[in-house]
Amino acid sequence: MIATESTPKAEKDGIPELPLPVSLFGSGTVMHHGVKTLPSVDARPAGVLQGSVREDIIVRICVLASGSSGNATFVAAGRTRILVDAGLSLRELSKRLSDIGEDPKDLDAVLISHEHSDHVSGLPVLARKHKIPIYLTHLTAPIIDWGGGAPHVETFQAGCRISIGDLEVDTFTIPHDAADPIAFAFRGEGVRIGLVTDLGYLPDSVKYHLQGTDLLVLESNHDLEMLKVGPYPWSVKQRVMGRKGHLSNDVVSDFIAEDLSSSTATLVLAHLSENNNHPELVRMVGKQALDARCLSTKLVIAEQRRSTEVFLF
Ligand SMILES: [Zn+2]
Ligand SMILES: [Zn+2]
Repeated sequence: MIATESTPKAEKDGIPELPLPVSLFGSGTVMHHGVKTLPSVDARPAGVLQGSVREDIIVRICVLASGSSGNATFVAAGRTRILVDAGLSLRELSKRLSDIGEDPKDLDAVLISHEHSDHVSGLPVLARKHKIPIYLTHLTAPIIDWGGGAPHVETFQAGCRISIGDLEVDTFTIPHDAADPIAFAFRGEGVRIGLVTDLGYLPDSVKYHLQGTDLLVLESNHDLEMLKVGPYPWSVKQRVMGRKGHLSNDVVSDFIAEDLSSSTATLVLAHLSENNNHPELVRMVGKQALDARCLSTKLVIAEQRRSTEVFLF
């Protein structure tokens, strides 16, 4: 049974639900991706968007929503705009994109990490309405219920490097209870961005991809003590804590202590559990770990109900 993660009313982080309906999927295109060499451009210092976009800004990232009720992140480099995951309704997605001067119709691609509903609930409508190419793995594509219509889908093997316009994307497998879950490391205009949520632990193969990132979005899902004494049934607690569940604040603290690159100018902690975590707790744990290493990394906590600032490079 496929566990899904969201319902309209309550956090469903780890609460098993009915699996998403399965539809046979025939229109996927197998992609053979070459490695594209990008021009070497020095990364600009990260800043916050104020007023109109500065002309020298070439990479923009905004976590539009993060958590068990819906996930979506906007990434733009050069002339390319993509959305990572579509766990918001089209109305909410349009509103949050509009707030940063963007429009769904201008997206060049939607990239999907895995089929849990907090990552794809808005995907069928978005795909139908705006006919944006959807990129997802060979194994994830067939288990999305598109609700009629044949979206433009590009499928690929998890672990492949793919090119989407001015963005080069390393995809890599993560340990999570989905069919073929992946996370991403982007490179565009000389800037590296990591986007890693929904995983039970941090294997070396994942840490490898996070080296040298300028901006890293990393899951910090739950506080172990809050989870243990919280309202979930034991079986669900076990799933969340398990090797294919979600990252705890403690794991993130250890990662910062031992593995976070000093090049990472901005660390966005994301996919927080509403029931088993608190933003201020995540901020405190993150800050302590950064301070212990004397890193001046900017620390941001992504939220469910509103977008982060727009990170600029
Ligand atoms: Zn999720
Ligand atoms: Zn998930």
